[in-house]
Amino acid sequence: MADFLVALAEFDQRRAWIALGHASLFAFLTQRLGLSKAAAFFRMKAAEIIQRHPDVVAPFRDGRLCLTTVASLARVLTPENQAEVLPRFFHRSMQEAKAIAAELLPATNPPRRTVITAVPALNPRTAPAPALAETRSQTVFLGEPVFTADAASNPPPVSAGPAPALQVEPLTASERRVHLTVSPAFLEKLEEARLALSHSLPGATVEDVLSAGLDLILDRDRKRKGLVANPRPGPAEAAAEPGAGYIPAAVRREVWRRDQGRCQWKLDSGGICGSRLRVELDHVRLRCRGAKPIASELRLLCRSHNDLAARQALGDAVMDRYTRKRTAVRRT
Ligand SMILES: [Zn+2]
Repeated sequence: MADFLVALAEFDQRRAWIALGHASLFAFLTQRLGLSKAAAFFRMKAAEIIQRHPDVVAPFRDGRLCLTTVASLARVLTPENQAEVLPRFFHRSMQEAKAIAAELLPATNPPRRTVITAVPALNPRTAPAPALAETRSQTVFLGEPVFTADAASNPPPVSAGPAPALQVEPLTASERRVHLTVSPAFLEKLEEARLALSHSLPGATVEDVLSAGLDLILDRDRKRKGLVANPRPGPAEAAAEPGAGYIPAAVRREVWRRDQGRCQWKLDSGGICGSRLRVELDHVRLRCRGAKPIASELRLLCRSHNDLAARQALGDAVMDRYTRKRTAVRRT
C-alpha cells in the first residue's frame, strides 16, 4: 500500500491522469481503477499529503499511520508543525484523528442549532438510515421543538439489527456534534422533560435536559456503589456479622474506589479483566462459609466473572438450579 501511495503521489504530481482522459485523480481512481468513493478519497488525500510531506511515507509503511486519518491530518499539517503534529496521529483511529484536528484547527463557526429531521419509512431489510441530504423534510429550531406534518405522518423506521453507533463529529477541542436517530415518542418525552425543568432550568437546551437526566442515572448508580457524599451510617452490628447480606455504604465505597470500578478477575495471561460493564461486588469467600462484609473480603467483578466465580465455588449443578429457580420466580 505504501509503495502504491508513493507511486500515486508521483503520478498525481505529473498530472498523469489528464493524459489518460480523466478530470481528476479522484476520477482516475474511481473510473479507471474501479475503487469505491471512500477508498479513492483516502488514497487521493494520501497522495496529496505525500507530495507536501514526504515524511509521512515511513509511518504509512510501518502501520503507525492509518489511511483513514489522512484527511484530518492534511487539514492541520504544515512544514512548521510537522515534527510536533505528525506523531500525534500515530496509532489513532479516524474518529480520534478528527478530534485531534478539531482541537488544532477548531471549526470557525460551529453549528449550535438542534435539527429534527424526519427519516422516511424504509424497507427494514435494506436498512441504513439515509444521509441528511436525502431526507424529505428538515426543521430547524432554537429551543422550541417544531414538528412538521411530514414528521408526524411518517411512521418511524422499523429498526433492523443492532442499534447504530452514535455519530459524533468533533468541532472544536471542547465541542462535539451528535447525530442521533430517535422515535417520535422520545421527542415527546424530551419535550415533557424540558417543561418539567422549566422552573429550575428556564430556557434549558436539549443538552441541559439530557444532562440533567444523565445526572439522575449516575446519582442512582453512585448510591449503589456507596459513593454518595454523606451516606447514612448503616447498622454496625449487621456490618460485623458474618453471613449478613448487608454491606455498609462505607465498605462499598472503599471497594469501588480501591478497585477503580473495574472487574478484578485475574487473567491467565496476567493482569485483570478490567471491564466496567455490569460490575458488582463479590465476596472473595462465600458468605455461607463465613465471609465478612469488609473491604478486604470483597472485590468487584463483572457479571460474567461473578457468575464464573460462583460456578467455580459451588459447581455447575448448583448454579444451574439457582439460575432456573430465579427464572421460575420471575415468571410467576
Ligand atoms: Zn470481568
